[in-house]
Amino acid sequence: MQTFGRQPAFVARAPGRVNLIGEHTDYNDGFVLPMAIDRDVTIIGASRDDRVVRLRSVNFGDETSFALDRIEKAHDGAWSNYARGVADVLQRAGFALCGFDGVIYGEVPIGSGLSSSAAIEMATLMAFAAAGAGGSAPLALDGAQAARLAQRAENEFVGVNCGIMDQFIASLGKAGHALFIDCRSLAYELTPMPKGVTVLVVDTSAPRSLAASAYNERRAQCEAAARLLGAPALRDVSAETFERRRGELPDLIARRAAHVIYENRRVLDAVAALRASDVATFGRLMNQSHASLRDAYEVSSKELDAVVEIAQRVPGVYGARMTGAGFGGCAIALVDDAQVGALTQAVLHEYPRRTGRAPKVYACVASNGASWRTL
Ligand code: ADP
Ligand code: MG
Repeated sequence: MQTFGRQPAFVARAPGRVNLIGEHTDYNDGFVLPMAIDRDVTIIGASRDDRVVRLRSVNFGDETSFALDRIEKAHDGAWSNYARGVADVLQRAGFALCGFDGVIYGEVPIGSGLSSSAAIEMATLMAFAAAGAGGSAPLALDGAQAARLAQRAENEFVGVNCGIMDQFIASLGKAGHALFIDCRSLAYELTPMPKGVTVLVVDTSAPRSLAASAYNERRAQCEAAARLLGAPALRDVSAETFERRRGELPDLIARRAAHVIYENRRVLDAVAALRASDVATFGRLMNQSHASLRDAYEVSSKELDAVVEIAQRVPGVYGARMTGAGFGGCAIALVDDAQVGALTQAVLHEYPRRTGRAPKVYACVASNGASWRTL
């Protein structure tokens, strides 16, 4: 807060996330199972008497300010649009906001697929809650509502058509738990993670250049499959129905549909495995998920496959898979705590040899969703 010459009065924070299983299921009204990671976007701040918000991002080395009575979008791609968007949707939803000065520091890698965007949205929302607390404008909204407003900020203000998963887990995550989400009803349930295991996240450092066009193409293929099967969404097609009728679909469409239909079932099986503390089964489901994303859905890459193959050979690794939309970004491995060092060494040693790229490795544990407190 030195830049603003003020003492901080509150700290607000929200975590990044990884999706443990359930990939490309969200836009098919299906199931996902993310966990919040122990890397936050943090805002320290102090409220102001006027209706101005001043923000500095340490990561970007840049400062911005805007008036709550006239929120304009900064240029396309500007980091401040996430905060502006949150302020805008909160006010449109009828919440009275209070201005504040804040300094943002993010430990969530930016643009790596660990959702620093949802983290900055939820951290900003928490900062507004902190700034208004005790005054005339406390923000009364629950975690699910908060997540939906943050998503709306990203969809409508920033202009990124993301689903609800990232904001939901950044808001509602809990230490030691994964969050099972039904992307149709938005029903959710915290499920305890097994003790003694770590989620190792490996950033492939590979560009995701193909991701956007392939994503749109996959979405269209899934919609076509649902239409041909006469179902509102692939969520509504059971594996049994699919196997009986898959001959009615063109081969490519059938393979795309098979991924989604069996991936939804794997998420349900994974949740059951967590409830039974059956980490071996959970790991096998992760491996199957990866194989399906690679062979049937065709959204993996040689870098993602390399990480997964390296990890799967290390003793103490239960399972590994790509996570996120694909073509780059991150892969994850579920590993015995005692073998985190060995797995890290294997990745740091073998991955550059196979791909010519330098990986980044983050050992993560399931962490709490967004919060704020006074200082
Ligand atoms: P991801 O969510 O996978 O990290 P996105 O492209 O969706 O990648 O979001 C990254 C964007 O979020 C950044 O370009 C920036 O605009 C914003 N952002 C994330 N972290 C910070 C931060 N610490 N300070 C300022 N802006 C941030
Ligand atoms: Mg994002």
